Amino acid sequence: MSIQDNYRQVVSGIRQGVRLVAVSKYKSVEEIKVVYDAGQRIFGENKAQEMRAKHEVLPSDIEWHFIGHLQRNKIKYIIGYVSLIHSIDSLELLEEVNKAAAKENRVVPCLLQFHIAQEESKFGLDMEQAVALLQSPAYKAMQNVRIDGVMGMATFTPDKEQVKQEFASLRAIFQKLQAGYFAGKAHFKEISMGMSDDYELAMQEGSTLVRIGSSIFGARDYSQKLY
Ligand SMILES: *Cc1c(COP(=O)(O)O)cnc(C)c1O
Repeated sequence: MSIQDNYRQVVSGIRQGVRLVAVSKYKSVEEIKVVYDAGQRIFGENKAQEMRAKHEVLPSDIEWHFIGHLQRNKIKYIIGYVSLIHSIDSLELLEEVNKAAAKENRVVPCLLQFHIAQEESKFGLDMEQAVALLQSPAYKAMQNVRIDGVMGMATFTPDKEQVKQEFASLRAIFQKLQAGYFAGKAHFKEISMGMSDDYELAMQEGSTLVRIGSSIFGARDYSQKLY
């Protein structure tokens, strides 16, 4: 099937109230244009320089979502235009984003990334760390970031019950934070979970943003360096 056919098929399976982030990492500007022309406006990237290069040549009404591990020295490549950073995993990173956003006179929407998978990973907060972040005077003083919700990745496993439980745990985290720290704040509404292999389950468990790459664009060729 063509990218366009894949895209249409994916879109037809997205539930009401869920937004699709088309994950275009490692894919060319031409491939992205195909999906753009089919109507998609939200694209996700996980490398700051790659995102900048694509942002510079693609239409300006694209909403760019940053979904990868963000190194502090690369914030400058995305801060002027990024629509949502899904991957805040420390107070220090949020402080740097806040500082950079202030220079651009922007308030940048962000999600807190949680470690919900069984797999070892360096990235993602646990509840205790998130609470410490949200209670810190440093966070409370920030004027140029806004936390809109949470993000997580499930374990890469065929065990659907496990994946379902991990997504349910992220939803529970979302609900706790919403009640404890964002009561009455309508902007705190996003649960970013679900990728090509598990987005159906993620939507069943309350996802509001699914991040889908290979089901739309096909497999990625990691040997090919585009940027
Ligand atoms: C690559 C990536 C995706 C998309 O993965 P697919 O399996 O290709 O859909 C989603 N989320 C994050 C954080 C990613 O890095």
